[in-house]
Amino acid sequence: TVKTRFAPSPTGFLHVGGARTALYSWLYAKANNGEFVLRVEDTDIERSSQEACDAILDGMNWIGLEWDEGPYYQTKRFDRYNEIIAQMLEAGTAYKCTCSRERVEALREDQAAKGERQGYDGCCRDKAITETDEEYVVRFKNPLDGSVVFDDHVRGRIEIANSELDDFIIARTEGTPTYNFCVVVDDWDMGITCVVRGEDHINNTPKQINILKALKAPIPEYAHVAMILGDDGAKLSKRHGAVGVMQYRDDGYLPEALLNYLVRLGWSHGDQEVFSVEEMKNLFSLDDINKAASAFNTEKLQWLNQHYIKSLPAGYVAEHLAWHMKDQNIDTSNGPALADVVTALSERAKTLKELAASSRYFYEDYEEFEATAAKKHLRGVAMEPLQLAHQKLAELNNWTPEAIYQVIEDTAAELEVGMGKVGMPLRVAVTGAGQSPGLDITLNLIGKERSVQRILKAVE
Ligand code: GLU
Repeated sequence: TVKTRFAPSPTGFLHVGGARTALYSWLYAKANNGEFVLRVEDTDIERSSQEACDAILDGMNWIGLEWDEGPYYQTKRFDRYNEIIAQMLEAGTAYKCTCSRERVEALREDQAAKGERQGYDGCCRDKAITETDEEYVVRFKNPLDGSVVFDDHVRGRIEIANSELDDFIIARTEGTPTYNFCVVVDDWDMGITCVVRGEDHINNTPKQINILKALKAPIPEYAHVAMILGDDGAKLSKRHGAVGVMQYRDDGYLPEALLNYLVRLGWSHGDQEVFSVEEMKNLFSLDDINKAASAFNTEKLQWLNQHYIKSLPAGYVAEHLAWHMKDQNIDTSNGPALADVVTALSERAKTLKELAASSRYFYEDYEEFEATAAKKHLRGVAMEPLQLAHQKLAELNNWTPEAIYQVIEDTAAELEVGMGKVGMPLRVAVTGAGQSPGLDITLNLIGKERSVQRILKAVE
C-alpha cells in the first residue's frame, strides 16, 4: 500500500508552499487508499521551536490534512539513528574519520582554487579506525563508481554519477546524526513508499538513495515539486503578501478555497478549475504535476473563495464566519442566526473577513450614518416616505420578508413615488449605509424591534 509523509522542519509557520507539498503527498496517499504520515524534523535544535511546531499542526488541522500516523519527532529517535550508525560502522558501509576541521577546510579551499569539485577526499576511508581518542565524525562510504538513477514523478529520469558525490558526514563529532541520514532511517522505518517534497531537496536524493542501498532498504518513489513564485517571478516570500496558511484564515479564506487553489497551482486535470476535496482525492495523480514553477495569483484564490462562500452549505460557512465575528468583536448572541447572515450576504463578499465586517449592523446599532448616503437619502422631502414606512412597520405583526416588502410597496403606492424613494432612506436608516442586500431580507434579519427603533432615530 501507498504510504507518504509530510516532514516539516518546525522553524516557522506552515507556508503555502509547504501546505501544497503536504496536500500533494496527502492526496497521493488518499487517491490510492494509502496512508499519510506526519513527521516533525526538529533535529536543528537552534532553529526549531515548540511554537513553530504547534503553528504547523494548526495549519494542517485548519486545511484538514489529517494524518494517519504521527506526528513523529526526530529528536525522540536519536537512539534509533545511533543504532543504525553502529550497524553501518560494523558492516563497513560507514567509517570513522579523524581528519581535523582545518584539514577538511584547507582541502576545500584547494579544490576551489583548482576549480575542482569540492568534497571530502576519502583520506580515512580505508583506515578502518575502530577505537580512537581523537575526535571523529562518521562518514558514509559512498560508492566510487557507477551512478544513482531514479525516475522522479515530476522531473522524469535523473542520473547522478557517484563521482559527483563524496563521503558525506552522517554523524557529527558530538555524535548527532545529520539531516540526510535521519530522513533515510525515518523513511525506511516508517515504510514510506513515495517521497513527495520540494524541489529544493532534489540534491539530497542521490545521497539518500545510496544510504538506503547500503542498508538494503527498499528505495521509495520520488516526486519533487517545483517552487511557488510571487507575481514578480521570484520565490514566493513575505514581501509578496501572505505566505502563512493561517494568515489566509485570518484574511477570510475558507480552507476549501485554499486547498482548491493550491491543488491547481502546479497540477491540472483537463481544464477543470473547481475541485471538491472528494474530487481531488479521486482525480489526483503525481504524474500530472507541472514541472515548471507556478506563480501565486491572489485574484484566482479570491474567485475560488467567493465561489465556496456562495456554494457551500450556509451552516458550514457560518462555522468559519463565527471565528471572524469574534475576531472583529461582534457579539452574535443577540441577533440573527449566522447561517442566515451568510445566505443574505454571500453574493457580496469575497472573503469572510469582509462578510463579517458588513454584517455588523445585524447585531449592533451603527455609530453614525455613512455621510454621503445620509446626505442624499435622509433629509427634506426624502424623509416623508420614511415616516410613513415607520408607522406601517411599527404596526406590522408578522415580521416576514413578504410582509416587509408589502409595506414598502404600499408606502410607495400611497405616496405615489417609486419604490426607491422608500427603499433608500429606509436602507440608510436601518443599516447606516447605502448598500445592503434586499430590504425585505435585511429588515427581517435585523428584527422588528431594532429596525423600528433605528428608523425612529433617523426620522427624529
Ligand atoms: N524537513 C524538510 C523541510 O522542511 C523536508 C525534508 C523531506 O521532505 O525530505 O524542508
